[in-house]
Amino acid sequence: MNNKLFSNIKAITACSIAFGLAGFSMAAPIKTIPWNGHVGAVSFTFDDALENQVQNLKPVLDELPDVHVTFFLTDMGNGLKQNAAGFAALAKAGHEIGNHAKNHGHLSGITNNEELNEEIVKFADNIEKVLAENGATTNVISFATPFCENNDQVKGVIDTRHFINRDCGWHGRNEWDVEPDWLALKAKIWTRSGASVPEMLTAMDTAAFIGNFAGAEPWEVQIKGGTWLVVLNHGVTDDKGDDYAIDPADIKKIFERAIEDKLWVAPFGTIGAYYRAHFIVDAATSTATDDGFTVSWKIPNEHMPKSVMLRVNIDTKSIGENVVVEQNGQKITPESDGSYIIEFMSKSLTVRKAGAGDSTTHPQDTTATPPTDSTKDTSTALPKIQLGSEQNSTVYTKFTLFDLNGNRLGTVSDFAVPANYPKGTYIIRAEAKGQAAITKKVSR
Ligand SMILES: [Zn+2]
Repeated sequence: MNNKLFSNIKAITACSIAFGLAGFSMAAPIKTIPWNGHVGAVSFTFDDALENQVQNLKPVLDELPDVHVTFFLTDMGNGLKQNAAGFAALAKAGHEIGNHAKNHGHLSGITNNEELNEEIVKFADNIEKVLAENGATTNVISFATPFCENNDQVKGVIDTRHFINRDCGWHGRNEWDVEPDWLALKAKIWTRSGASVPEMLTAMDTAAFIGNFAGAEPWEVQIKGGTWLVVLNHGVTDDKGDDYAIDPADIKKIFERAIEDKLWVAPFGTIGAYYRAHFIVDAATSTATDDGFTVSWKIPNEHMPKSVMLRVNIDTKSIGENVVVEQNGQKITPESDGSYIIEFMSKSLTVRKAGAGDSTTHPQDTTATPPTDSTKDTSTALPKIQLGSEQNSTVYTKFTLFDLNGNRLGTVSDFAVPANYPKGTYIIRAEAKGQAAITKKVSR
């Protein structure tokens, strides 16, 4: 045994002795569940603010409540100005609005920072302003470079106003444990001449790790599990003369395959934020407290979404069987599989031993199990919560609406989905001070 190894072992032993004492830093106890519990993920992005996206894609999207996509807007050809109402309607239906630069210029050819600022930063503000004038509140946090022309100076300016940028090319897949360049994500590009519908369908399967990839040659891309695929589209029209455009029926087929493959189909900024957050949370170490531990972390970019819900497992073995997980003083009820849904943007969480005043200390099905269910152990339960009764409105102070992909859509006033949301199934999380939050599936 060499000395270095020996001193490492000593260090580990010293750590184990310290384990459990308040104030000491310990292992990283949080592990994010990949791709929000899906085997893989896909983000469809549509560039250039084209009228045919509003005309031909919106009807397809309206039929598929589980599909949310990203539109990268530019004012090239007056795209933003002319189609603002259409994109505002898409934003209101839960789709992401991103930034594709004001004039769709060759950004890497611009060396004047003021000019880059006009194209990138000020245009992000302008998109939000124009869509607000059309009734949609948006938070532009994703960028896509025109012509995928990028360099360090361009990245530097993008980074001051966005937390992520999409370039293009390559197979467009990202592995869970390999941190990408957040300002140069690759994307698989659709063109009529360059791709085909069967190829795109196979790309969905590959992202979902469906197929036999064991026979790949060493020099080929190795597929080791589910990945996040980013797709770049432009127009949506039957016009076969438009090489960049895809037929509405074909994009629908590809969306449907993604759902069938059980991929997490969500906007670029949504999946990108989940993906980026996991590298931070999973590396965050815990600090012991008198009755448990806390884990704190930093937000990597101030332009992350306002809410980034992560589905995580937390190693609480050192604390004992009955634990309480809290964020901002609010208990988090475990999901039926024992995982927790935490808010990354809260920057910390606490795990402590459950005390006499705590009730829910074991995983339970939080999706609308009536409290009268005789199979459920209610002996130690909280004051009974009458789901759906009027009592809720007095007990719960905050209701948050999510789609089934975990995207936070906004706050609502009760366990009902407002009529301006598309028909489909949603999740509503209700919170009350001093009580565990509960979630409920709600359809409209
Ligand atoms: Zn473009």
